[in-house]
Amino acid sequence: MSPNEQHVIIGAGHNGLVCATLLARAGRKVLVLEAANEVGGMAQTREFAPGFKVSACAHLAFGLQKDLAARLGLSEHGLAFSAQNLPTTALNPNGAPVVFEAGSVRGVSAADAQTYTGFAAQLERFSHVLAQVFSMEPFKLALATWPERLAALRLAWKIRVMGKRDMREFLRVIGMNAYDLLTDHFESTSMKGALAFDATLGGEHGARSPGTVLTLLYRRAGLQGAGPLGIAQPKGGMGALTQSLAAAARAAGVEIRCGQRVARILVEEDKAAGVVLESGEKIPAGSVISNADPKTTFLKLLGAEHLDTDFVRRIDHFRSKGLVAKLHLALDGLPEFTGVEPASLSGRLLVSPSLDYLELAFNPSKYRQIPDEPVLEITIPTIKDPSLAQPGKHVLSINVMFVPYDLGPDPSGTRARLLRNILAVLERFAPAISEQIIASELLTPLDIEREFGVAGGHWHHGALAFDQFFFTRPVPGAAGYTTPVPGLFLCGAGSHPGGGVMGLAGQNAAQKILAKGH
Ligand SMILES: Cc1cc2nc3c(=O)[nH]c(=O)nc-3n(C[C@H](O)[C@H](O)[C@H](O)COP(=O)(O)OP(=O)(O)OC[C@H]3O[C@@H](n4cnc5c(N)ncnc54)[C@H](O)[C@@H]3O)c2cc1C
Repeated sequence: MSPNEQHVIIGAGHNGLVCATLLARAGRKVLVLEAANEVGGMAQTREFAPGFKVSACAHLAFGLQKDLAARLGLSEHGLAFSAQNLPTTALNPNGAPVVFEAGSVRGVSAADAQTYTGFAAQLERFSHVLAQVFSMEPFKLALATWPERLAALRLAWKIRVMGKRDMREFLRVIGMNAYDLLTDHFESTSMKGALAFDATLGGEHGARSPGTVLTLLYRRAGLQGAGPLGIAQPKGGMGALTQSLAAAARAAGVEIRCGQRVARILVEEDKAAGVVLESGEKIPAGSVISNADPKTTFLKLLGAEHLDTDFVRRIDHFRSKGLVAKLHLALDGLPEFTGVEPASLSGRLLVSPSLDYLELAFNPSKYRQIPDEPVLEITIPTIKDPSLAQPGKHVLSINVMFVPYDLGPDPSGTRARLLRNILAVLERFAPAISEQIIASELLTPLDIEREFGVAGGHWHHGALAFDQFFFTRPVPGAAGYTTPVPGLFLCGAGSHPGGGVMGLAGQNAAQKILAKGH
């Protein structure tokens, strides 16, 4: 690619923006084309009812990497937080809630509280290994080159230096399910349910599904990279975070054009040569980098005719149907949750009161049915950030698990039933809440697909599981941000290390593209 040619990035999700800024800072000419009228993708703030704003999909910064945020100068570009290090409160229908805060837990037996200290410390050490993997470029298992062999050795060494005991335990548990691990350690039903929640959030697995210890460590590894921020709430919602990313990108010289949907990736002489917009405008490029999900990128924008049959089959089989819905409620006052202290109300509230509850909520999704009693992650962002609603009014933002993509033969009837089921569960903990509702918005995975342009509406653009992780993410042949088509790269959540608003896929992709001399 000649130095005058530009990089075109499809999509101004947070990963696309991170990638764009890093490329521009390395002296590349970068144009970002975003289909929506706003940047941010699944991390944006918008009005869902007159006077009520909410973070549309992602509602909490769970793993925004502190080093990356500092490197991009996000605070100088307007990023501020209305809350940091938020506590997690597990609502308990049978008694006092369990509260996780600053590495300890309250509301459980002394024995469980003590075990938790050691358990959490061990998870920290294990997550540290995974956190290193997050910023590694996936290597091919054949280890054909010296850099690949060195990367594999570095990884093996990270595990080895944990010491014999930890190493043995790490290798024992990493493929296990969260249910067995938690049952081995704790007696508190409510605590086990809450810990299993983090192992399953965003995925398509229940607590008993294999690989849920990996996803538990995944979440903790993300948080490790967030450092002192912990679980945080950007001032102005998640959209403020992506706006600061866009400001950093523009300051680095990136051009961002919103409302420009890419219809097709151009291929000339077997190489990516630019894009064609829906308007018909043709934009030439030396390389094309896609922040769109892998299915959209390869099957819709590129076209199977440029790929071999085996690769097309793999992309076709990439599991990407989401199971998380989002409910937004506009309330005419602050809701009261029984037994929850005011300080906890502004944090994360979980409805996942036991391992069995979680598993029972997951089971119907296997048969494309909704749960009678859904698992919920609730935030009330307006407590710490009143700018999101009129004085005295509040917003409830809820991640709802496990809601299938396909709602069956009567989607509107199923949606109405789902809303009733969620409200019935909420009322158990906040009895007066239904009377406070002014307006509501429910986004199922299908709505998320339609509105945010993510095939399947999946949290991670595609399942995060052992068979779709690291050197096989999204699929063999497209792991490591390169694709079978020279000059076409991936930089979104469908690539390693996956989703959540961490910025790592965008960062790693930029490194790879620069290393390839593009
Ligand atoms: C319900 C839900 C709740 C979530 N909650 C959280 C949370 O609380 N915390 C958290 O950290 N994560 C959360 N996530 C996950 C997180 O939102 C995503 O993993 C993350 O935003 C993905 O970022 P991305 O930049 O890779 O992709 P995206 O945000 O999906 O961005 C991709 C961009 O590409 C654009 N695009 C696609 N096709 C085209 C095209 N043809 N032309 C031009 N542009 C195109 C899209 O419009 C979009 O802007 C949640 C996800 C969901 C679904």
